[in-house]
Amino acid sequence: MKQSQLFTKTKKEAPSDEVAKNAQLLIRAGFIHKEMAGVYAYMPLGLRVLENIKRIVREEMNAVGGQELMMTTLQPKEIWEKTGRWDDAKVDNWFKTKLVNGTELGVGLTHEEPIVDAVSNYLNSYKGMPFSVYQIQNKFRNEKRAKSGILRGREFLMKDMYTFCKDQEQHEQEYEKIVAAYHRVYARLGLGEITYRTYADGGIFTPRFSDEFQTLTEVGEDTIYVDEKKRIAINEEILTDENLKKLGLDRNDLVAKKGVEVGNTFHLESKYTDALDLFYIDEKGEKQSILMGCYGIGVSRLMGVVAELFSDDKGLVWPENVAPFAVHLLSLGQDEETEKICIELEKNGIEVLFDDRDAQAGAKFADSDLIGIPCRVVVSKKSLAAGGLEVKMRNESESKIMTVEELLQMLKK
Ligand code: ATP
Ligand code: MG
Repeated sequence: MKQSQLFTKTKKEAPSDEVAKNAQLLIRAGFIHKEMAGVYAYMPLGLRVLENIKRIVREEMNAVGGQELMMTTLQPKEIWEKTGRWDDAKVDNWFKTKLVNGTELGVGLTHEEPIVDAVSNYLNSYKGMPFSVYQIQNKFRNEKRAKSGILRGREFLMKDMYTFCKDQEQHEQEYEKIVAAYHRVYARLGLGEITYRTYADGGIFTPRFSDEFQTLTEVGEDTIYVDEKKRIAINEEILTDENLKKLGLDRNDLVAKKGVEVGNTFHLESKYTDALDLFYIDEKGEKQSILMGCYGIGVSRLMGVVAELFSDDKGLVWPENVAPFAVHLLSLGQDEETEKICIELEKNGIEVLFDDRDAQAGAKFADSDLIGIPCRVVVSKKSLAAGGLEVKMRNESESKIMTVEELLQMLKK
């Protein structure tokens, strides 16, 4: 893509009311637009990153048998009344609305009830289980504080998955399979080393713990206690002697850290299926409860975490897997030659942002650092005289002269 045609422009300053580093950088680089506190729109560069994260999440959910669907944002009140959640005082962040005739509706903040309602059209026999469904969809929550940029939005993108199993054994298998898929998602985003499976409160309807996936960062809102050797953590909220004993953890092995919750998984038992009258008939013809699990990943929050963690004083430093483009190609007064190189790279399947703008070299370099594409390629009189292209990785300081073939070889690795 030609940068002269990209309608977004970089900015020297972020809006003065924006305090979070992730949003400051993403706004300055033209990835997101702030509509209002906690509500951000994704501009072309930002959408490319978001789509890359979605692709990784989707691939890993499909790999464990997840079937993708898309539920609605508008939800009928009745199904939430059946589970007692419509008027639950603990759900204090729900946007609700009304039809013209006064009928109340919920605006999607999670989807357990609607999913069970939809599934009950189809599921009645043990033969249909286990199975899992998921969606990647905007959720709406009336968050009290929304000062962390895209880490905590009032409208944000979530992947939510739900499993349906006929017994506990089947449920455990599905659950652990999905936990393993979560670890693969975080690893592919470059967060594997610093993301911990973390024991957390399981909620009211199960004595078991839930699992949170916490990425270590100083901007995290949660305090977790990490056992580095076991690569496991426990959320401060449930840190009691009794729980430590139950989990086989030793207080002396734990180190307090700040974390941001990038996903979580819950055992729901048969709380929602029973309440919504979804049962199955077993091998003996008897009616049985269906066990559910639910599994969330904060897709847009992950983009914010990556922006926070992979950045320096000059701007963003995208990991290759999520970068909006693979190569930032800068022409310094060599537009014709550079265009040929651009075509050659694109022919080889490389995604290129081609800075063909009529601008000073210094401005092009500064923008390139701010936007943070992993590989910067400069074509100038000097580079051509030296034998080709001046190639610098965003996370390195030294550049190298390469031919187009050498660059292609390096990128294919
Ligand atoms: P939190 O504890 O951060 O408020 P939660 O426990 O309410 O989140 P879930 O309802 O389980 O989260 O949502 C699944 C995932 O969606 C979370 O693990 C998190 O990564 C992400 N998420 C939750 N709320 C937000 C939000 N307001 N903005 C962005 N991402 C969010
Ligand atoms: Mg939470």
